[in-house]
Amino acid sequence: MIVMKFGGTSVGSKDSIANIATLIKSRLDKKPLVITSAHSGITNMLIEAADNALKGNPDITKIENRQLGLMKDLGVDESLVRELLDNLKELLNGICMIEELSPKTFDLVQSFGERMSCRVLAAAMQKAGIKAEAKDAFDLGLRTDSKHGQATPDEESYHEIARQVRTIDADVIITTGFIAKSAVDGNITTLGRGGSDFSATIFGAALDADEVEIWTDVNGVMTADPGICKNAKSIPQLSFAEASELAWYGAKVLHPSTILPAVKKDIPVRVLNTMEPENPGTVIVASPEQTDIAKSVVYKEDLLLVNINSSRMLLSHGFMAKVFSIFENYNIVINMIATSEVTISLTTAMSIEDLKPAIDELNEFSTVEVRDRHAIICLVGQGMSGVKGTAAKMFNALSSSGVNIEMISQGAGEINIAALVKNDDIETATKVLHQEFFE
Ligand code: ADP
Ligand code: ASP
Ligand code: MG
Repeated sequence: MIVMKFGGTSVGSKDSIANIATLIKSRLDKKPLVITSAHSGITNMLIEAADNALKGNPDITKIENRQLGLMKDLGVDESLVRELLDNLKELLNGICMIEELSPKTFDLVQSFGERMSCRVLAAAMQKAGIKAEAKDAFDLGLRTDSKHGQATPDEESYHEIARQVRTIDADVIITTGFIAKSAVDGNITTLGRGGSDFSATIFGAALDADEVEIWTDVNGVMTADPGICKNAKSIPQLSFAEASELAWYGAKVLHPSTILPAVKKDIPVRVLNTMEPENPGTVIVASPEQTDIAKSVVYKEDLLLVNINSSRMLLSHGFMAKVFSIFENYNIVINMIATSEVTISLTTAMSIEDLKPAIDELNEFSTVEVRDRHAIICLVGQGMSGVKGTAAKMFNALSSSGVNIEMISQGAGEINIAALVKNDDIETATKVLHQEFFE
């Protein structure tokens, strides 16, 4: 069997949904399980609606217009999602009344997008003559921990998923990406923005799929963000390790955790374009044929740069452990790190408010300076390992275009070389590196 995941734009209009019907029909012999995102725009609207409700304005008009407008185009009756929309309305009224939006409630609000699109997509496939059945991912057994907004799958639930799927008599099961339920308390959780990619490989691993297809709006993973580099090209093959690095360092086309379940079961992941299905896109496998030195340039923006200064203690025994135990206690994820004799510099994607308690503790034995609006720009490719001069070429290109580099990192694996720059320099840096390495 295979898993086919369709992103927001792929389920965003009548035309793209018609393309999906053709694609599913062409793969019926491979017994596809389909994962869908919310229709494009809906998750953002749900987030906005939750925020507005908290500020005293519970309103679902915008969501209703988008959702029901698309359903009208598809000739799908609105009764299919009426109950969900009514529940959403009640929930927003509740948020407004108690003036509180907990991470748990916020996940519940966001879950409505996929719960609606999954039902609509199944109805549209039935109209196209495919025997499709809609099921929420949690009703297929998907369980996670209870870390709302960024839940991690509970691998114990994989057996239950396989068992549930076997009991359903349909040509195609259509299920929700992005959402699950906590194994701890049964509340709805989300896997983080863009999480439907992660759902796809989770289901792929649970069902021992032959392949996972991620259908999106570009021809696979590209040599740079095509929104910045008009000359970006598709990358035919990537290794699991390269794809993980690309996703982790910001290539929006894949959720950062997408590759993990695929690696464990050695399942190829193919990234394809719904609007151009004949294009081969990108295949991600354990050992691709290596051709280029570097594969792609990616960036991760809006990071905080944290400088921890302690002239007396840095090299003393236990100092590092003390610093990192504070980060550990506050669940702070660090992206990049460098040390000098008196400073530890690191970056995190956390907000200043969330970082504050950790800073207060660090300030008890060091001086901490935090600077916002930084970005990691990163060159990724397994072929860079052992090739002399790649780093020099990268840093020369950046400095000759006037980009100031504030930190540098290259792991021993030499699969990526990263530089910390200002947010404002992302575009210049991406363009100059793309020109240097890919044009
Ligand atoms: P979907 O809704 O299908 O999940 P996303 O919007 O999440 O799609 O991801 C696809 C988008 O990612 C593309 O439209 C593109 O603008 C952006 N993107 C950023 N970096 C890259 C990259 N290196 N390769 C391909 N796409 C990228
Ligand atoms: N709908 C969710 C989002 O917009 C998940 C996804 O599309 O993958 O983030
Ligand atoms: Mg996405």
